[in-house]
Amino acid sequence: MSGEQSSAPEPGRTTAEGGPAIRRLAEWNADRLHELAADHGTPLYVTDLDRVAENCARLRGAFPDADVKYAVKAHTGRAVLESVRESGLGAECASAGEVRRALDAGFPGDRVDYTAVNPPARDLDSVVEWWEEHPELTITVGARDTLDRLAERGYDGRVCVRVNPGVGAGHHEKVRTGAAPKFGVPYDRAPEVVDDARDRFDVVGLHAHAGSGIHGEEDLAAHRDLVARMGELAREVGDGQLEFVDVGGGFSVPYCEDDPALDLNAVADTTREALGDVDATLAVEPGRYVVADAGVLLTRVNTVKPTPETTVAGVDAGMTDLLRPAMYDAYHAIRNLDASEGSAEGPVTVAGPICETGDTFCDGRDLSIPERGDLLAVGNAGAYGYEMASTYNSRPRPAEVSLAGDVLRERETLAGVTRLERGGGGE
Ligand SMILES: *Cc1c(COP(=O)(O)O)cnc(C)c1O
Repeated sequence: MSGEQSSAPEPGRTTAEGGPAIRRLAEWNADRLHELAADHGTPLYVTDLDRVAENCARLRGAFPDADVKYAVKAHTGRAVLESVRESGLGAECASAGEVRRALDAGFPGDRVDYTAVNPPARDLDSVVEWWEEHPELTITVGARDTLDRLAERGYDGRVCVRVNPGVGAGHHEKVRTGAAPKFGVPYDRAPEVVDDARDRFDVVGLHAHAGSGIHGEEDLAAHRDLVARMGELAREVGDGQLEFVDVGGGFSVPYCEDDPALDLNAVADTTREALGDVDATLAVEPGRYVVADAGVLLTRVNTVKPTPETTVAGVDAGMTDLLRPAMYDAYHAIRNLDASEGSAEGPVTVAGPICETGDTFCDGRDLSIPERGDLLAVGNAGAYGYEMASTYNSRPRPAEVSLAGDVLRERETLAGVTRLERGGGGE
């Protein structure tokens, strides 16, 4: 099938600890995935915690002098957070909920950053309350309003100023954050915001994030521009007074079977070179790179329908379990774990059970033609997979297990879906 891995070596410094630059869907052990599906049912997320640790080790190897933080929103599960913490990464959190999860998973306050994007009052209240117990945590602020709102709450701790660098990168317009006015203070106004913040807070860093999906030359050039601009700004606002310059995440993973793996060392070299001489630690905050290839989604075929154009394989997972194809037109590799040598291939549309046209994982893709009951695996589902799951169509969210077989998140029940509803739900 087309998901077979090529035997050519992948780029990237690969230490024994860091493992290979990418783990392809074809490399997952089919027998093990069959066992897990039999034991826990489908749809089922399977997460390989060892692979999470390898990805962390590879990042630290490529950025030996940098502070590497994990963008928690890619996968917030406790076991993943613990694995990331044990691997020495910090936690970059997008909400009070993520800050709470990071602290609960044992990240010390000085390894926790809260990136507050239009923060709801409740989030600020909570984080300021937790800050009293964890005074070393850092709040990244992207608007002067947020500084005022923090001061009103008595916060005078560590602040990092998020800058809008005016450069975006990413695999889809919805993830190009660098140039979107929603994120960060405009580059030209950053020095005055930093000055203002210095009167009231301990300003420890500058931050920018260009978006999600640095892979090709073009994205790397955009990344280089962003980093260079951040280097300039760091020198302008006072070198030696900043602890770190955080240039964001967005390191890509190859979603297509024949996409090359990201050359992490080239990204690291470009980053260091573009930053130039600054008296502050470089920080990066990848999310998907840490978890994407550590997860697969297993789903079973329940309906097979030949049509003139394509064979529609109806499966028990849908956009409520893995939203990326419907939301970003994202490509995810799909492997039929029951395909035998020489199974017939043809255009296959893998479709979920939701009443939405967008609820397909692929349309007319060349795959081995599935039979009812076959088990399919969807690759690179570890990042923004479970996190974006919803209960639309009253669908309980799927279960998640580790590759070792531990239940990480139980399958949601229908009672769980309706429990907040008046007159509904309950056991
Ligand atoms: C989402 C996000 C990241 C991580 O993006 P990835 O593409 O998962 O690496 C990093 N920083 C910020 C501020 C983000 O919002």
